[in-house]
Amino acid sequence: MISSVSDETLNQIAMILGGEEGVGIINVIKDVEEITVEELAEVTGIQINEVRKILYRFYNHSLVTSRRFRDKETGWFIFQWRLQPELVEAFVNGMKQKILRKLKSRLEYELNHEFYHCGNNTCPRITFEEAMDTVFNCPHCGEPLKPVNNDLYVDFLERKIGEIEGELSG
Ligand SMILES: [Zn+2]
Repeated sequence: MISSVSDETLNQIAMILGGEEGVGIINVIKDVEEITVEELAEVTGIQINEVRKILYRFYNHSLVTSRRFRDKETGWFIFQWRLQPELVEAFVNGMKQKILRKLKSRLEYELNHEFYHCGNNTCPRITFEEAMDTVFNCPHCGEPLKPVNNDLYVDFLERKIGEIEGELSG
């Protein structure tokens, strides 16, 4: 049913929004035309209230949509739920845009600063400006600070940005 989004991506989104139970629910929904909360609860073994809660979380992020009709026997409204693949894709792209913005501002930060470190794993990197304040001694442990080469990290960021830009334009 889904052509635009991979199962892996779908599972990741379901995990973020609904945890393990969210993944269980999305895996059932993606393979059926339409399904009710009661049927979902039965198939997944998840409590009806919990299924409903997760479905509404998915619904608020436009991953699923529902159609309502009246049960002929009881006269009650029944909701049928289904996946919205186009909107799942929009959600994924939205997340990628957000990550892209973060990576770009990270890259800018890395390119615009010089970094120093004392060599202790438990101490953070210090910027040149911060290192000036402590006369190039680590503000955490007091050890002398040495310049840090961030070329590899910059390379990594540039590669990652290229990758995501490629995915978004492709
Ligand atoms: Zn230190």
